[in-house]
Amino acid sequence: MRLHEYQAKLILSRYGIPIPRGRVASSANEAKQIAEELGLNTVIKAQVLVGGRGKLGGIRLAKSPKEAEDLATQILGMEIKGMPVRRVLVDEAVSIQKEIFLGLTYDRESRLPVMIASSMGGIDIEETARKSPEKIQRMLINPLIGLRDYQVRDLILNIDLPKPFWRAFIEAAQGLWRAYSESDATLLETNPLVITADQRLIALDCKMIIDDNALYRHTALQELRDLDIEPAEELEAHKYGLSYVPLSGSIGCLVNGAGLAMATMDIIRHFGGMPANFLDIGGGATSEKVSAGLRIILSSPKVRVVLVNIFGGITRCDEVAKGIMSAVMTAKVHVPLVIRLVGTHAEEGLRMLADANLIIADTLADGAQKAVSLVKGISYEYPD
Ligand code: GDP
Ligand code: MN
Repeated sequence: MRLHEYQAKLILSRYGIPIPRGRVASSANEAKQIAEELGLNTVIKAQVLVGGRGKLGGIRLAKSPKEAEDLATQILGMEIKGMPVRRVLVDEAVSIQKEIFLGLTYDRESRLPVMIASSMGGIDIEETARKSPEKIQRMLINPLIGLRDYQVRDLILNIDLPKPFWRAFIEAAQGLWRAYSESDATLLETNPLVITADQRLIALDCKMIIDDNALYRHTALQELRDLDIEPAEELEAHKYGLSYVPLSGSIGCLVNGAGLAMATMDIIRHFGGMPANFLDIGGGATSEKVSAGLRIILSSPKVRVVLVNIFGGITRCDEVAKGIMSAVMTAKVHVPLVIRLVGTHAEEGLRMLADANLIIADTLADGAQKAVSLVKGISYEYPD
């Protein structure tokens, strides 16, 4: 789950990292009021979960509350990379002397958290990594020990940070580390962290991604999820505890178990088809869950056929059949369903499906071939 800039910066400030004065607004009038309260020049920043807002007109400087209102009107009417802007952050504008990059993420190779710092702040870090990799400093962190001050000093020595800011930088780095580990983040970066003309070190921008698999133990963070931007099917899948990933093909897949779901997608590709989704209903799924899964798959206009592949162990085939029947009765099923059911209570399951005019397959290969032949002639959009 990715947080908005204003949410992430509030978390930073709770960990002692200075941020600009300011607040989020959802109307131009509110933006004007905030600018009046601040009594300073302000920056109006679009709150959308995409990078590079600045270049696309999503960050503007306002010299008066009236101008803040006008710019907020403009920005609130924008779409940035397809995302409508619903809120703007109204922050005090600062005059920048130096821009630094400071971030934390996981280093997959060493399987450790890594702190990354660069004197080339303010611009895209990926671009810096490509063009001048020597400008990027990395420090691996032992999560059991935590970040040590000497490690931060090592980073400092390579980013041309003036000495008077060392103490503040170490405190910011420690705050960032605590915010990162205590929130179960997978990414936390502030770019730019700036030195202002009036000699403050503050985080102007922040990007934070929380590990979805850890959200269950962060009730306060769960509330920050922006429901406006998540596709309805994914919210629905989340509600029923289904693992669902939409893809670009035309063959919907309803499978029990992540491994079998992957194998099902592979075999569809093997026979020349393209899966429309990954969906794992999990072990021992109830008929409600199965029915919800099928409805989610069918809600996509791309789906031309659904392949149900169940290898019943803990999952009972009759329970799955009941779920399929309930979805068939309630949702308008406009596409053929190919069904392969084996294992626990398979005979009962197949008997329940007998009247429903579904296409029964004996094996996975048989099911995949039947599904692929039903969508023959449909061209696919292959992912990048
Ligand atoms: P991003 O483009 O989405 O990463 O948005 P940022 O918040 O990082 O802003 C991009 C750039 O806008 C920064 O690197 C700054 O150069 C500039 N910027 C943002 N806030 C201010 C501000 O208060 N004063 C000044 N002078 N520039 C700012
Ligand atoms: Mn930025």
